Amino acid sequence: MTDDVDVNNKIEKELDNICEDCKNIDESVTENLILSGYKLCKSCKTSKTLFPI
Ligand SMILES: [Zn+2]
Repeated sequence: MTDDVDVNNKIEKELDNICEDCKNIDESVTENLILSGYKLCKSCKTSKTLFPI
């Protein structure tokens, strides 16, 4: 049971909608994290896709 709480807290922290790149809060951050594994907002994901480092 305690493990479940830890996991839930970790997921909640991951789903704070804060982009790792520009630090802006955007709903698309969680969407992109689930879909692509990148914790990025819409605009950062677009720029990374167009200009991958
Ligand atoms: Zn961003």
